[in-house]
Amino acid sequence: MAQPYDDNNIFAKILRGEIPCNKVYEDDHVLAFHDINPQTPTHVLVIPKGRYVSSDDFFNEADEAEIAAFFRAVGKISRDLGVVDRGYRILANAGADAHQEVPHFHLHIFAGTDLGRMIK
Ligand code: IMP
Repeated sequence: MAQPYDDNNIFAKILRGEIPCNKVYEDDHVLAFHDINPQTPTHVLVIPKGRYVSSDDFFNEADEAEIAAFFRAVGKISRDLGVVDRGYRILANAGADAHQEVPHFHLHIFAGTDLGRMIK
């Protein structure tokens, strides 16, 4: 059974404005902000505004408009960050083996350095 959404997770608090974030983008469906503990010179998190625990939850439960808006926003954010020409990596941790820390679906955008072959 899918994990229930926890309204007290830190990204839910950011979405409600209870905790500040260093915002890079926002629209009706999406919020993006700099990671508080960046692993690369550019490290941005992109989250849907809907209540989705993980990528599995989002990919299977979100409606087409939300999914389209999310990935269009990822594309726009990447271009606006200026990372597309040199290169970047997008990643979602899902579940225990991937050490997902925050149970609100998010994509990481890593860029600004040679990323090598693997990154956490
Ligand atoms: P996960 O392991 O994929 O769940 O990654 C969670 C990410 O959220 C980590 O990279 C954390 O540094 C980041 N993070 C946790 N709390 C905050 C916050 O308050 N603002 C921005 N990023 C955060």
